[in-house]
This record gives sequence, structure tokens and C-alpha cells, in this order.
Amino acid sequence: MANAEIVAIGSELLLGQIVDTNSAWMAQRLTALGVNLYFKSVVGDNPERMKEVISRALERADIVITSGGLGPTQDDLTREIVAEVTGRKLVFDEILLEQVESHFQRRGRTMTPNNRRQAYMPEGAIRVKNPNGTAPCFIVEDSRVVVVSLPGVPVELKWLFENEVEPYLRKKFNLAEVIHYRVLKIIGVGESAVDDKIGYLIANSSNPTVGVLALPGQVDVRIAAKAADKEEAMKLIAPVEAEVRGLLGNAVFAVDDDTMERVVGKLLREKNKTVAVYEDVTCGLLADRMRSASADHFPAGFISNGTSSLRAFLGCSRQPDRLEQTIRDPAALTDELAWCARAQAGSDFGLALHSIPDPESQVENLARGETYVSVTDGKSFKRFTSTMAGRGQYDRTRMTLNAIDLLRRALIEGMN
Ligand code: ATP
Ligand code: MG
Repeated sequence: MANAEIVAIGSELLLGQIVDTNSAWMAQRLTALGVNLYFKSVVGDNPERMKEVISRALERADIVITSGGLGPTQDDLTREIVAEVTGRKLVFDEILLEQVESHFQRRGRTMTPNNRRQAYMPEGAIRVKNPNGTAPCFIVEDSRVVVVSLPGVPVELKWLFENEVEPYLRKKFNLAEVIHYRVLKIIGVGESAVDDKIGYLIANSSNPTVGVLALPGQVDVRIAAKAADKEEAMKLIAPVEAEVRGLLGNAVFAVDDDTMERVVGKLLREKNKTVAVYEDVTCGLLADRMRSASADHFPAGFISNGTSSLRAFLGCSRQPDRLEQTIRDPAALTDELAWCARAQAGSDFGLALHSIPDPESQVENLARGETYVSVTDGKSFKRFTSTMAGRGQYDRTRMTLNAIDLLRRALIEGMN
């Protein structure tokens, strides 16, 4: 199996002004191609340091991919450095010059003399035409390693990678295998608890491999298989997926690119049910996500910012005479809020998310506090509680996800 290494070039990447998204994107594509990626590095526009990392990459990889530094300016040094480390001269190429010139003509702009720099490439390199920009790119085939130099502009790089580099690498390295993934998204079970349940699969599996990734309020389990094609890979994945699902049950809420919103939206449509929500600390986030789940099944969202509006909202409480007592008991209060959301909107379900951040807590995220979620269909209640409640985006995302998950469970498991 071929090994690749990516070198992202640009001082702005090192300074953190631009995030190196090119490498992350190419890493995924290489994995799907069945190429191992062992190293990724970022280097500034400095000739000595570029020479150092690219030479090192040439020693240990079969495929070295550079991104950036192919433009017309003085700090675009990639073509010079690649020529030098592969022991070649930099030569002027008529066809490259024509490509650069015609790009300017098509845009109706005049070419400045510094663009002539872009008509040079290492001697003997394979020209790769870039239809989306002026920076031409090239592939140098050295005795045992190939160097692919791509422009830094993401749309240009992606197009070239998909349309030129991938077919080239497939042929050159006989890449018959593909790597295919299945991502199972899990809620309500923390990363260590997931590891506790499926750790034996993570430790002992080779094809497919199983890995875990923690996100706000969610854990992703990734099952990756290598095979001749996608179908074969799915066959290898299926039994492992079944095993993981057997261990985690309904905690698996979505697969691959699916989201909690899409899953719940689909359930609401299938069962033809509507839901109204009440929320406080999440301040509209729950309503926003329910609207994107299914606008047609979400008649109303109520946002309260403080307790002063509570009494008015609780006007349709089941036990008006015990209102003050209910307000003092957050779990009972949340039930009433769900009840009133449903009653006021005339919906099938009411969902309430009531959070009380700990006033002593100094942090906005992963903060202590109390969160209560309740869903009702007008007959019974389903509840979720947690000891986390922060005002930061991370905590609000997590609380919202948990609230929508409670509705999901009510829709698939029923209210008992
Ligand atoms: P150009 O002809 O546009 O100068 P180039 O090959 O010289 O092409 P760079 O100058 O290095 O490319 O980068 C051009 C732009 O592309 C940068 O300003 C940045 O916005 C983006 N870019 C560069 N490298 C990356 C990267 N690794 N990830 C994401 N974006 C990048
Ligand atoms: Mg540039």
C-alpha cells in the first residue's frame, strides 16, 4: 500500500490566520483511495525550512503532496524548492505560459510580468492543467517517489485533486482498494461508557477497524473497512455495525451524514405528529433546530428569559392552586412547562427544556448546574435530567441535542 505525506505551505497557516483545511480534506480523500497518510506538516514560505520538510518527506513517503506557494509572487517558492530537492533544473515551459496567458485573456485582464514565474516547472515534470486559476501545477516523478504540487486556493486544489490527482494515483499505484466508513452517532452514553461497551472491538478489530470520536453531547463510532469496492466494504462493516447496535440500542440516533434534526423530522412526518417547545437558557436554539427538523410539524416555540414570565405562561397549568409550589420544584415545573407548551399551541407533544446554571460556576461550558427536560403527549411524561447547564455554545448545543433526543425516544419507544 502506498504511503503519502502532505506538506501545506504558507506562513499564514503557521500564524493561524488561515486554517489548513486543504490537508484535512485531502487526508479524507487519500483514506478513501486506500492510501496511508503517515505525516502531515505545515511550513512557512521560507526556502530553508521548506527544503528541510520536503526532503524529509521524500525519504519516507511514496507520494508527497504539497499545497500552496505556486502563485506569481516572490514568496511563492514551491516550484523552486521542489526542483531543488528532486535534483532538477527549473525550466521555462511554453505551454504553461500559454495556459497562464489564456487564463488572463478569458477574464479580460492583462497579465503582469511576474506571472511569467508561473510558466516554470521542474525539468521533466508532468504538467497538470488548472482550469480554475492561474497557478499551474505539476507532478514530478522521481526514482521512487512522486511529488504532486497543488495550488493553495481550496476550490482549485479540490478540483485538481479529484479530477487529475486521484485518477493519476489510482493508475500509478494500482489502487484497486477503497476504504469505506460507516459512522454511528450516539447520544446519552459518554465516551468512556461507549469505550467500556465496545472497547474489545476497538482493540481487536483490523478490517474493519473501529474508532471513537467525542463531540458536544454526542459520540461517533466509526467503522472503516478496506475492500475492492464500496459494496465489499459494506459487507465487512455490516456484522460489526450489527454488533455495535446490539450493544448500544436506541442510543444510536443517526448514521453517516444524518443529523438529529433530520431523524426527528422524519419521525414527526411519518407519525404525523406536531410538537411545541418551551426553553430558557438555550434561548431559541431548540426552536431553531426543531424548525429545521420539520417546519410543518413545529407550530410554536416559547422562549423565556427569567422567571417573571413563567406565571403568565403557566396560565393553563393543570393545578393552578399549586402553582407557587410547582415553580419551586424544577422537575415538576418542567413537566408543567411541557404541558402548557402543548396546550397553548394545540400540538400533539409539548417539549420543555429548563436549565439552571450553577451561579457559583465560573465557566460557560462544561458548567455545573441542573437541566430538566420533559416531553408530554397530554397523558404521560418522559423525562431527562443532567447535572450540566452552561450558557456557552457548547453546553447549549448539548442540552438542545438531549432535549430533541428525548422527543426522538418518545416517538420511537412510546411514552412509557
Ligand atoms: P495563488 O496563485 O492564489 O497565489 P498559491 O498556490 O500560491 O496560489 P497560496 O498563495 O499559498 O496559493 O494560497 C492562496 C490562498 O489559498 C490563501 O490566501 C488561502 O486563502 C488559501 N489557502 C492556502 N493554503 C491553504 C490551506 N492549506 N488550507 C486552506 N486554505 C489555504
Ligand atoms: Mg500565492
